[in-house]
Amino acid sequence: MKTVFTFFILYISSLSLFGQITVVIDPGHGGNDPGHCGSHAHHATEKEINLKIANFLGGYIEKYLQNVNVIYTRTTDTYPSLGERVDLANRNRADYFISIHCNGNDNSRVKGTETHVHSLDISKSAQFAKNIETEFTSRAGRKSRGIKDEKDLQHSLQVLKYTNMTSVLVECGFMTNPEEARYLNSTHGQEIIASAIFRAFRTTIEQNHPSIAFRKSTSSSSNSSTQLASNNPQSGYMIQVASSKHAIDTKDYYFKKTGLDVTRKELNTSSAYKYVYYAGSFSSKEEAERALNELKNKGYKDALIVRS
Ligand SMILES: [Zn+2]
Repeated sequence: MKTVFTFFILYISSLSLFGQITVVIDPGHGGNDPGHCGSHAHHATEKEINLKIANFLGGYIEKYLQNVNVIYTRTTDTYPSLGERVDLANRNRADYFISIHCNGNDNSRVKGTETHVHSLDISKSAQFAKNIETEFTSRAGRKSRGIKDEKDLQHSLQVLKYTNMTSVLVECGFMTNPEEARYLNSTHGQEIIASAIFRAFRTTIEQNHPSIAFRKSTSSSSNSSTQLASNNPQSGYMIQVASSKHAIDTKDYYFKKTGLDVTRKELNTSSAYKYVYYAGSFSSKEEAERALNELKNKGYKDALIVRS
């Protein structure tokens, strides 16, 4: 039974088939790979800043938008390989991939944001990148160095080249420029950067999927830009552990080792994989993330957090 399920998991149905989209947020580097280092000893490394900006971005999406499924390539200080990041996005048939990085240069005067795409000829990625750089300049007050592709870099970036969806890699500023390093190390700066990417993402998906209603009603929204969706008692999190063509008993041995209550949901979808299985119920994202890590350690490699 185990191998059958492993096979099923590879075919998690595309949510966009029934009015939802999936975005993969990829905080660059992690684990033994710190990325660029700050100009001061007390500054965080790139991997830490990338993770913070990614968490703010995902939090805004979950708080303000509906019909968007958010998947993270990492939520802690780990290093998924570039191939694993690409595979995660492709396997989940994501519609968007956003990789978050900070830049570095030998010349400490160099500063500004850049958004990379594999090729400027891929119009959806180029348009998304343009929306991000526009937000950086117009609303976040950053200096934009523009959109770059593999011709500018003279090499291709693996996470952009091999992901089968609209993909961008955002360089949020230079950690080697003292002024930008201070900004990138501040919670305020991280929030502003994340909200600029968020607004560009919202503009992009509303342009690309006009039939889907993405904005949540504002009545329950708080004014605080830092309060994330996980603080909302109305909503919670579950962990999707499998999908299948035919209904499978949730008491099945495969689910037993989750150690959690498993519920089955039949989707209204044209995909062959009509059944999804959710384990647990968590009121905060932190709890869900802890459970997700445990499930991954137990062998549910493709498990992912979804909103309940
Ligand atoms: Zn980087």
